[in-house]
Amino acid sequence: MMCDCCPRMCGADRENGGIGFCGASDKIKTARAALHFWEEPCISGDGSDRSRGSGTVFFSGCNLKCVYCQNAPISRGAAGAYIDILRLAEIMLELQDSGAYNINLVTPTHYVSQIRSAIDISREGGLKIPIVYNTSGYERPEIIESLKGYADIFLTDYKYSNNEDALRYSGVGDYVEYADAALSRMVRLAPLSFDSDGIMQSGVIVRHLMLPGKLTEAKNILKRIFTLYGNSIYYSIMSQYVPPGKENIQPDFPPELMKKVSAREYSKLIDYADRIGITNAYIQDGESASESFIPPFDLEGVFRRCIR
Ligand code: SF4
Repeated sequence: MMCDCCPRMCGADRENGGIGFCGASDKIKTARAALHFWEEPCISGDGSDRSRGSGTVFFSGCNLKCVYCQNAPISRGAAGAYIDILRLAEIMLELQDSGAYNINLVTPTHYVSQIRSAIDISREGGLKIPIVYNTSGYERPEIIESLKGYADIFLTDYKYSNNEDALRYSGVGDYVEYADAALSRMVRLAPLSFDSDGIMQSGVIVRHLMLPGKLTEAKNILKRIFTLYGNSIYYSIMSQYVPPGKENIQPDFPPELMKKVSAREYSKLIDYADRIGITNAYIQDGESASESFIPPFDLEGVFRRCIR
C-alpha cells in the first residue's frame, strides 16, 4: 500500500521495502525511550525534585526537513534502532512503571498506524497514563482524526505564518493550510484538563520556536491562533533557536538564520502575546538558547533489559 500518512503523500510502498521521504520503512526506528525533564512543566513536571518526567520516545525520521533542525541526528534518520510493535508497547509500560506522567511520542507521524496498535496492546497490559502526540504540525487532518481515543494531548509546533518561509526553511509550500486544518481537529479532540498537581491530562499546546528576524511572522501566528482558540489551549513561545554548527551547515543554508534570536525581539513577542490576551503561555528565560534540551540519542530504553 502506498503511504499517505502525511501531507507529503509521497506514495512510498513501505510494506514492500520502500522508504518514504521521511526516511521511514515499515519498521519502527527509535533512538531513545526515557524520562525527559525538559518539556513544558505541565508535561514533564516543574523541575523540582518531585518531578517525575515525561516518558519520551524519540522516533527516527521526519516528514519535514527543516534546514535548521535541532534534532538532525534523528530527523535525518541516521540514529536509532529498529523495534517491532510489541516492543513499542512494552516500552510504554516500562516508562509508566518508571513513574512517567505520560507517554510522549516525538515525531510520530510516519509511524501512526504502528503507534495506534502499540497503544492498544499496552492499554490491554495496563497503560493508564495520557498519550502525548508531539508533532511538527505538518499533519493530514484525517490522520489527526484517527487518533481519537489514542492521543490525549497534542504538543504541536506551529512553525510558519506563511508558506514562503515554509518552503524556504522546510521544503513544503502548503504548511499553513495543513497546520491550520490539523490544529482545528486537535482542539476538537483534546479539551483542556489537568490533574491536581497541574499535570496535563488532555489538551493542546501550540509551540512556536521563534526564528531570528521573524518577529512580525511570530506575532501573526499568535494572533491568528489566539483569534480562533483564545485561552482554550496553551501557547509555548520558544527562544531556544540555535544556528547549526559549522560542521553541520549545508552550503545553501539561509544566511538570515545564522544567528540566535535576540533578547529584544523575543521580549517584544512576549509583550505582544500579553497585549492580545494570551494568559496560558509558557515562555523561556534568556539562558535557554545556550542550554541543551536535546538528550543523547544513545538508544537508552530502546531494547529489552537483560536480567541475569
Ligand atoms: S509519512 Fe513518510 S512515507 Fe508516508 S507519505 Fe509522509 S513522507 Fe511519505
